[in-house]
Amino acid sequence: MHRFQEPSFRDSVDLMFNRAVALMDLEPGLEEKIRVCNATYTVRFGVRLRGQMHTFTGYRSVHSEHMEPVKGGIRYAPEVNQNEVEALAALMTFKCALVEAPFGGSKGGLCLNPRDWEEHELERITRRFAYELIKRDMINPAQNVPAPDMGTGEREMAWIADQYARMNTTDINARACVTGKPLNAGGIAGRVEATGRGVQYALQEFFRHPEDVAKAGLSGTLDGKRVIVQGLGNVGFHAAKFLSEEDGAKIIGVIERDGALYNPAGLDIAALRDWLVRHGGVAGFPDATHTAEGATVLEEDCDILIPAALEGVITMENAPRIKAPLIIEAANGPITAGADDILRSRGTVIIPDLYANAGGVTVSYFEWVKNLSHIRFGRMQRRQEEARHQLLIDELERLSRDSGIGWTLSPGFKDKYLRGAGELELVRSGLDDTMRTAYQSMREVWHARADVPDLRTAGYLVSIDRVSASYRAKGL
Ligand code: NAD
Repeated sequence: MHRFQEPSFRDSVDLMFNRAVALMDLEPGLEEKIRVCNATYTVRFGVRLRGQMHTFTGYRSVHSEHMEPVKGGIRYAPEVNQNEVEALAALMTFKCALVEAPFGGSKGGLCLNPRDWEEHELERITRRFAYELIKRDMINPAQNVPAPDMGTGEREMAWIADQYARMNTTDINARACVTGKPLNAGGIAGRVEATGRGVQYALQEFFRHPEDVAKAGLSGTLDGKRVIVQGLGNVGFHAAKFLSEEDGAKIIGVIERDGALYNPAGLDIAALRDWLVRHGGVAGFPDATHTAEGATVLEEDCDILIPAALEGVITMENAPRIKAPLIIEAANGPITAGADDILRSRGTVIIPDLYANAGGVTVSYFEWVKNLSHIRFGRMQRRQEEARHQLLIDELERLSRDSGIGWTLSPGFKDKYLRGAGELELVRSGLDDTMRTAYQSMREVWHARADVPDLRTAGYLVSIDRVSASYRAKGL
């Protein structure tokens, strides 16, 4: 069989960047300055575990410091490498610019398989990794603020925050050194679901534009759309859950490490996630067909494909067989640059990663602001808002009574209208607004310029334009 020259993850991001830059009029030299990764720190450290010294390798890469702090998750996976971390850091720069989160781009990774270690061992490894980064200001509320990514979650973020606080006992903003923390350690309501929730809001916004929906050869709303999801982790699970429970989409396929499940009538996502957590895989789940060669299900007939596991899963090799007319990149870099060309030429609409999974960093931004302001969102306004609404209801009821009209409010209206917004409602509202606004900024460019072939190029154009404006404002 013919071997394709598949670009690496890092090369793919560069190629996509170059495609956008070719359509811009940047001053000489600025293009390269924006493309290159400013610095990557590699650390090797030892931790004594199970009676012997184990050496671990970790990275923290800073792509762009046009705004500080820089922001980006920390990933735990055996294959983590410098190329991958740098590609992810670059994506963070463009993602933050696109959703107007005031950060530069960064990313971190540790080469380890979290399933190989007990919780107390992971804590020691994480604290040691954090120590190495903190002492070099590579974790710092004003300079570099990590978050969860593949293989990490609230637990690891709480350890990192605590490690920073121990090493910076007088820093009143210590909690803002990392986001994605549990609520009781300075986290924010709605952060765990944020990336999946953002994928849902992105699709809702896409379906508000019939012209865009038609480009994918689809019509109508999300209701009844057949969806295949790869990866039922944090991002994939929440996206699939919300789309099926709230928008009427049917999740007909789920691809995991140990194969894929398929059921044209739709899978029960909450039940499947329970099964996955209990059994460590999806095999054996009732009422669905299991395929050991999971990746083949990417090629099944469906309306929307959601790769939400890892990068490089849609390649020049399998792209010609992908049937989904609409792909939303919940994972970072799931489609290689070569595959992207193939899919684009076939008319597939791709909602790109730098936009699609920006819900995580958006809510991380809210958490960072909450930590710096030292107050929960809604705490000052909620009851006042309720009191003002009560005034209006009382007045409406009085008017109705006094005028003899006898109006009555619809059942449930009073309760809903009277309830002031708590932190979770405010976070979701801020996220929804962010995802709508960012999509609109991309589609405007996509539709206005005949030389912009797709949403990805449009997204890069918007982001690069903002990053370059920020460099210019700094006099660089
Ligand atoms: P996670 O570790 O919670 O979940 C990943 C899931 O993918 C797991 O269930 C795993 O079993 C599955 N998986 C791994 N390899 C697979 C394979 N070869 N085939 C099928 N399934 C496989 O990770 P996550 O946080 O959900 O991240 C997923 C993707 O989303 C990554 O690309 C990450 O960079 C991106 N992302 C995450 C966040 C976040 O807030 N967590 C934010 C933005 C982007």
